[in-house]
Formats: sequence, structure tokens, C-alpha cells
Amino acid sequence: KKTRAAKTGPTPMMTQYLALKETVPDCLLFYRMGDFFELFFEDAKQAAATLDIALTARGEHEGEPIPMCGVPAHSHEVYLARLIKAGHRVALADQTETPEQAKKRAGSKALVGRAVVRVVTAGTLTEETLLDAKSENWLVAIAETGEALGIAAADISTGRFTLSLAEPDMLDAELARLSAAELIVPEGFAAAPSDAQICPRTDFSSIGAEKRLKAMFGVATLDGFGDLHRAELAAAGGLLAYLETAGQGAVPFLQPPRRHRTSDHMLIDAATRESLELTQAVGGGRKGSLLGSIDRSVTGAGARLLAADISAPLTSPEAITARFDLVQLFANDAGRRESLRAALKALPDLGRALGRLVAGRGTPRDLGLLRDGLGAARDLHISLARIAEPPALLSRLLPLLTGHGALTDRLSRALVPEPPIDMAKGGYIAEGYDAALDDLRATAGAGRKAIAALEARYREATGIASLKVKHNNVLGYHIEVPSRHADPLMSAESGFTHRQTLAGVVRFNAPDLHEEAQRVIQAGAHALAAEAAHLEELIEILLADKARVAATADALARLDVAAALAEQATLAGWARPKLAAHACFEIEGGRHPVVEQAVEQLGERFVANDCGLSPEERLWLVTGPNMGGKSTFLRQNALIAVLAQAGSYVPAASAELGIVDKLFSRVGASDNLARGRSTFMVEMVETAAILAQATENSLVILDEVGRGTSTYDGLAIAWAVVEAVHDVNRCRCLFATHYHELTRLAERLDALSLHHVRAREWKGDLVLLHELADGAADRSYGLAVAKLAGLPKETVARAKAVLAKLEAGRASTGGLAAGLDDLPLFAADAVQEEERPDPLRDALAAIHADDLSPREALEMIYRLKRLA
Ligand code: ADP
Repeated sequence: KKTRAAKTGPTPMMTQYLALKETVPDCLLFYRMGDFFELFFEDAKQAAATLDIALTARGEHEGEPIPMCGVPAHSHEVYLARLIKAGHRVALADQTETPEQAKKRAGSKALVGRAVVRVVTAGTLTEETLLDAKSENWLVAIAETGEALGIAAADISTGRFTLSLAEPDMLDAELARLSAAELIVPEGFAAAPSDAQICPRTDFSSIGAEKRLKAMFGVATLDGFGDLHRAELAAAGGLLAYLETAGQGAVPFLQPPRRHRTSDHMLIDAATRESLELTQAVGGGRKGSLLGSIDRSVTGAGARLLAADISAPLTSPEAITARFDLVQLFANDAGRRESLRAALKALPDLGRALGRLVAGRGTPRDLGLLRDGLGAARDLHISLARIAEPPALLSRLLPLLTGHGALTDRLSRALVPEPPIDMAKGGYIAEGYDAALDDLRATAGAGRKAIAALEARYREATGIASLKVKHNNVLGYHIEVPSRHADPLMSAESGFTHRQTLAGVVRFNAPDLHEEAQRVIQAGAHALAAEAAHLEELIEILLADKARVAATADALARLDVAAALAEQATLAGWARPKLAAHACFEIEGGRHPVVEQAVEQLGERFVANDCGLSPEERLWLVTGPNMGGKSTFLRQNALIAVLAQAGSYVPAASAELGIVDKLFSRVGASDNLARGRSTFMVEMVETAAILAQATENSLVILDEVGRGTSTYDGLAIAWAVVEAVHDVNRCRCLFATHYHELTRLAERLDALSLHHVRAREWKGDLVLLHELADGAADRSYGLAVAKLAGLPKETVARAKAVLAKLEAGRASTGGLAAGLDDLPLFAADAVQEEERPDPLRDALAAIHADDLSPREALEMIYRLKRLA
């Protein structure tokens, strides 16, 4: 049998399948068969594994059974989402004709025509169900021309489209800002590792891009979009070419490109974003991030814009001040803020509804959403326009909220109040919009009534009270009676024609029923067609205006962000920052918004702390015990800089800062080790980047840098880094360390000052005050922290003895820097002082108490217990 199958070749259907598959080799092909999408061969194996669904077989190909799996067409989006999440691309091959049409076209054995109608990838989604309402979904293309890197980014769910130029060493920072869902790169291009789906391509033509852009936006020249660099054009070319392939020719919605100039934004590299947890917490997700804890926006578009603002703080004092002014307007007037927020809350997601319509996947409901949203925008305009002396940003936004009167009126007249998503059944065009449609509906309605009347007549004529007129998809309208009454109706005189006998019931047709049914069906079909034509026309009218509709959606999002930040500022007691012309950073009563929430949830009080950096005193060295609040202090100041330049009030009693051009945050490796990511090498690579890039206008926070290696290496590195930051970069810097030796640097570096987080020992217990004070910490408290963490009494006592020895050794050799190797206890054989080898004592002696985080201390206890 095997040989025969091989000889006869593939079935016509398999031939069609293979031809389609050839056009989308890098995608899983969803092949439509009736009510299912089926996958075959390798695709089936991969999908079955990812989706955890049954893998079966169907027929044979070249003598082997063909692996197959399938998903129901009506719920395929769910499966699509999971495959995309798992990093796959999916191509949908749908039927392009009905089986009846195929038969008419090519005879009874004809194969239904199919075509790839869409390629779905992580960066080309528009479906509501597949997207996160609060996150942008960027498709990013990178192109290289000579020295320059061009970046084109599009969120096709809303049409946002940006172009930018990046220095090669800033590429990673730009990609981190966008957090792309999918990345298109030239073949052979080594992109930094990220969560993005990577797609190497070859078609990055700047000339092709120029043509495409001109055609897309109907312009004769691209001058209106700014002075675009060839690399930007090439990137745009790669992006558009990719979108054309993905949409199978249908190009999705793009707004005219906006240029994102890196110098207009605070540079924040990937490591800094991660360590500050700006929009994503360490474990992934918004919860626990800065964004997650301060986002009080009430619309999806507002949430997306706030995320974008925090990801790309501004550097222009004018632009920042404009945002402050708008926030202040709503912060000062609770009534106005409340009514705006209530109105915004009721708004649909205009941007995404528009995105779906432009992509050709819009539904009557999307039109309804736009009608409601644009109407609400018009109402908002009326109330906001009453504000006397509006701030400049509001004056810019106001005109964008109106001007859709004709469109909303048309949609209001045309659509029913709640248009459905499913257009197959019709019923979305309102009564009174089209007289011909109303007539068709009346005819169909009259037909249905007539059919109902027929039922009563048939009952009377036959005397069968249980006779019913029913409808199903196979028989259409028909008469149904219980089997025991069927016999008399079987004869020709009865006027009924037998159609079907089932267990219990028998079904018939009758000429007058047939006639009425035809009327209903015909009028219904014509009505459906009329509705579809209206829908198409309405969409066309809307799309002619898409750029202005998108601008309205953006303006609403900006209002939402401003009101949300005002709400947050009011509820959390935040202050409007002042912008200074010089590189200062003066914070009174600063707080960490995320830690503060966590601390307060435990019923404790968060201690606010001041910070004061200036050109004369630009480097703060912060010492103090572990858990004392050093990291929190460092980060809160970095977050204050981000919030301020994003245009927000800040968690402080008062704040004044000079614009920060680049922000860096690094955390010593051992903190990251818990995540199984960073190594000392990474720590050093990242620190090197700071020394190479930080300028006098930058803000740098360094937390326990150098701790990822041995004490001496670490101290030496930390020492050298502090010197370099102070002498060479001359940036504002907060440096936290447990190396008390570093405090000696204050004698030599005149812009460095010493600070510590306070702690007190009370009745033998350590009390961490989380309060910053001037000067160096008087001692390290490492053992006290170990005790606080629950290290057994005996172990702490033994550690005390070890410490005493160490400190005695330090005194006699003239300090730590004078060669620790001479110290007894560090040399391997010195531990044998008392008795025979004792692993427990060895382990104990090897503890660097100051280097331990509480968690490490706890792990140490377990290790010690195992040795005992
Ligand atoms: P360090 O960096 O000195 O080891 P952290 O900054 O990580 O210390 O702070 C440790 C814990 O102390 C935090 O998780 C928080 O619970 C608490 N904490 C830190 N700063 C404060 C503060 N200013 N007020 C109240 N609690 C604080």
C-alpha cells in the first residue's frame, strides 16, 4: 500500500496545502477546513506540543502518515495568542469561496479555493483579545547605513509610528525603551537579547521606503516629516515591506511618522530600566514597578501613554513645564478633575477601534465605539473650553477634541445604540436610516408573521394540536408532527410533502409554507446585503478622517495622563518640581513611591530623606548597615528624576533639579545573583558603560558596586570607580557601599561628601532608623544585622571572636589596604589554631559578615547546620 500511495502522489488538497505552505515557510500554517483550522506535518507537531492538544494523523504523504492537529475556527484566536506568546508566527489560510461556489466554478469534485489571508506575529496584532489594553505593542525595524542606525517603530493597533536615529552604543537603550514585541533586523545583525520575536530580513531599501511613504500619506515630498536620515528611511522601508507581507498586501494603519530624537529624551539604558523597575518589576509584569504603583489613569490609551512617558522622560524644560502646568490645573481643582475622569472612564478605546477598522478587521461595534468616543470628546471640549486662562498644553489639545460633528451625527443616525461585533446576522443599521432597508425588514417580518399564522391554520386543518412550524439550517422552514400523527399526512391529498423521519417526529413541507419562507429568506438576504453596503460606506467615511480621529484619541490620552498624575499627586502628597538651569538635585523629604506603599501596608511609617547634590557637592557616598535603607534612598532619587522629567509631580516635600541628560543605575552583582542573571562580569561591563557615557549633566546611582568579587578586588574597583566618576565624568552621583575604607576618599575628593543611614543598638538589638545623616557610619553593624536575621547566638558569638581577630590584624598591619594576605585566619592553615580540622569552624571563619545580605545569612545558617 505504501508504494502505491507514493506513486499516486499527493491528493489535490495536499497539493494546495503544500503550495500555500511554501509561501510562508517560517510560519505555522492554519489551514481552514470547514469549522476547523488544521495544521499538518512539522507545524502540527509544534502546535500540538505548545497548545497541549491531541496530535492525530490524516492520510499519507510520500508513504508516511501526515501528522495533523486542529483548532475550532470560532475560537482560534485563543490558540493563536498562545502560539504567538510562545514565539511562533502564524499564517491563516482561509477559504476564499463556499463549496457551492467551487462546485459552480469547477464541477462537483472541485476543491474549495484557499489563500493565505493574513500572517499574525507578535508585532502585527490588532485583535482586542490578543493585546494588553494597557501596553503598547511595538514592531521595530533596525537598519544600518554606514555609521548610523535607523530605528522605525510602529504600534499598528493604534497607528503610532516613530522614526529615530541612534548611535550604535545607544541602540540597546532605545530598544529597551520601546520594549519591542517583534524586531526586524538586517540578516546577520546581532541584536541584544530581549523578549522580542526576532525576524531577519533583507529588504531595507531607503528608496523603496521613500516611495512607499509618499504613497501611504499622499504627499509629493517627505520634507514635512522632518529631515529624515537615510538610515531612518531604510528602517521604515524594512518595516513597511514586512507589514505588506504580514498583511498580504493590505497595509495596516500608520499615522504620519513622528521623529523621536534621542537628545529630546533622558537616556536610560536597559540595565538602568531593569534595576529601577520603571515599567516592569523584576519578576516581570507591571505590579511592583514604578508605573504599576502610580498609574491612576482610567483609560487604556492613558495607561499606554503614561508608560511611554515614564519610559522616555523629556529633556526640554519647556516641554516638561507644559506638562507640569496641565497636571497643576487638575491638581488644584478636585471638582474639575473628578468630572474629567468620570467622563474619560466611560470612553471606549478609540485608538484601537480605529486600528481594527483600518486593518479591515473592524466590526459594527467598533464604529459604535468611535461614535460614542468622538461624541464624548465633543462634550469634553465644551466643558474644558470654559476654563479661563488655559495652560498652553490644554490650548493645544482643545481643538483636537472637536471637528467630528458630521461624522458622529452620521454614525448616530446610521447605527443602532449597541451595534454587535458579529455582522453576519445584521441588525446593526438603525431603523429610519434607509427606507429601502426598512421595507425589506418589514417584508421579512411580515413573512415571519404569515408563517406563524400558517402554523395555526395547519393545526386546524389536520386536527393535530402538537403540530409545529420549525426552522433549521438544513431544511429551512418545515412542519413537524409527532410520529404517531404522521400517517394521515403522508398521502398526497394532505397537501404536505414528506421531508424527513426521525425517532419520534416526522417533518413535512407544504407549498404555501415554502412560498412564505422564500419571501422571508429573500428579503432577509437583501436586507443583510444592504446593511453590509452601508457598513462599508460608513467605514470609508471614517477612514477618510482617520488621522484626525487618531489625533483626538491621543489628545484624550494626554488629558487622562495629566488628570491621573494630578490625582496621584493629591492623594500621595507630591510636589511640583522646580527646574534649575544648573546641575543640581535638591530634594527635601523625598520618598520611594513603591517601597513607601509596601512599608505602609505593613503598618509602618516610611522615613522621608533629603538629598542635595550640586556642582560643588556632586557625589554622595552613603554607608551604613545592610537593610538600613541605602538602596531605597538611591533609587527614590533616580525615580524622582524620571517622574519630574516625565512631567509629573514627585514624591517629596520639595524638589529642584537641573535637567538630567542620562540616568544610570547599577546594582552590585550579588543582589542580582538571586535572579540567576548577573555575574561580576556583567556588573563590570555595565559600570564601564557609565564611565564611558556619563556627562556633567547625568545622574548616576551606584549601589554596592564591586561586591560581586572578593573583598580586595571589590574595594579596589569601587575605589577606582568613585575616583573616575568624581574626576572624569563629574556627574551627579549617589554611591552606596559597605566598604568603610572608601570614606577615606573624602579627604582627597573635594566634591564628595559622606552620609550614612542611621542605626542604633538598643538593649543589644539593632534598630534600623532608615534615616540619612551626615558623615560616615561609625561602624558596620554586620554582625548585628546577622543577629537580626536570626543567625544563632553561638554563631554570632563566634563571628564576633573572628571579627576581633581580624580587626586586631588590621591594626597591626596598618589597615585593610595594607595586605590582608598576611592576616592569620585568611590563610588556609591559620584556622587550625585550636584543634584538629573542623569544617564548621572553617566555614564560619570564611564568612564575610559585612558582605552578607540577610537572605545569604539565612542560607549560611542552613549550610552551617548541615556541617554541624
Ligand atoms: P540597604 O540597601 O541599606 O541594604 P534597603 O534600601 O534595601 O537597604 O532597605 C531595606 C528595607 O528597609 C526596605 O525593604 C524597606 O522595607 C525598609 N526601608 C528602606 N528605606 C526605608 C525608609 N526610608 N523608611 C522606612 N523603611 C525603609
